[in-house]
Amino acid sequence: MKDLTNESVIHVRKDGVQFLQFRKLLEYSDKIIHCYTLKPIDIKGKSKDDENYKMICNALELDYNNVVIPFQTHTNNVDIVLKDSESGEFPETDGLITNEKNKILCASFADCTSLYLYDPVKNAIGNIHSGWRGTVAKIGKVAVEKMTKEFGSNPEDLICCIGPTIRQCHFEVEDDVKNLYMDAFGDESIIKKADIVNGKQKYFIDSVAAITKMLKQCGLKSENIIDSGICTVCNNDVLHSYRSEWNLSGRNASIICLK
Ligand SMILES: [Zn+2]
Repeated sequence: MKDLTNESVIHVRKDGVQFLQFRKLLEYSDKIIHCYTLKPIDIKGKSKDDENYKMICNALELDYNNVVIPFQTHTNNVDIVLKDSESGEFPETDGLITNEKNKILCASFADCTSLYLYDPVKNAIGNIHSGWRGTVAKIGKVAVEKMTKEFGSNPEDLICCIGPTIRQCHFEVEDDVKNLYMDAFGDESIIKKADIVNGKQKYFIDSVAAITKMLKQCGLKSENIIDSGICTVCNNDVLHSYRSEWNLSGRNASIICLK
């Protein structure tokens, strides 16, 4: 059976579900619980009562009643989960942050980039859905700034783990999206010219490189930015991928919770 374990993540099989965990975040397993789910878990459902949430929470020994799911709409909006916050309270939200314990921050993905944030000094977390629209709108930067403002986080302390996502090998775009990346990041090194198809110039974009550079500009240390290195399209046999499956695609979940 395929195993995605590498220098950044381990591939776990437990209680009938499979998920990835970052080695870096496991160093803090007395403080936080996290995972990135693999097939057949599919959290396309928007309710915490979805059987898939129950299965994954069971495997992580979490109470699914504490699941908080935002209504992701490819914004750069990041909201704070408070003690009495409920799932369903977060419309047009693509990032959640909290310093409350036992709040299970969730996000769903099918190629978009997942960012896990952890501040081991202030003991605060973030779970960010950074699709290409959110990436060019710099939702990762918004989240870091919000954690700084709300929790007193020092970016030098922050850890950011980058989950499986569509990568430069498969993220093919045309001039419109390429220009948005250039406007946002002004960095030609993230763009590789591809073929001309039906008269249209194609490009391959390295979103992870763009996000990594942005996080460093925010003050994160290089050694605290951990990339899973896994492409959702290349690994579509075990990961949901919109580019591979279009409207039939399910959703991978990222989950992080303070103990
Ligand atoms: Zn790929």
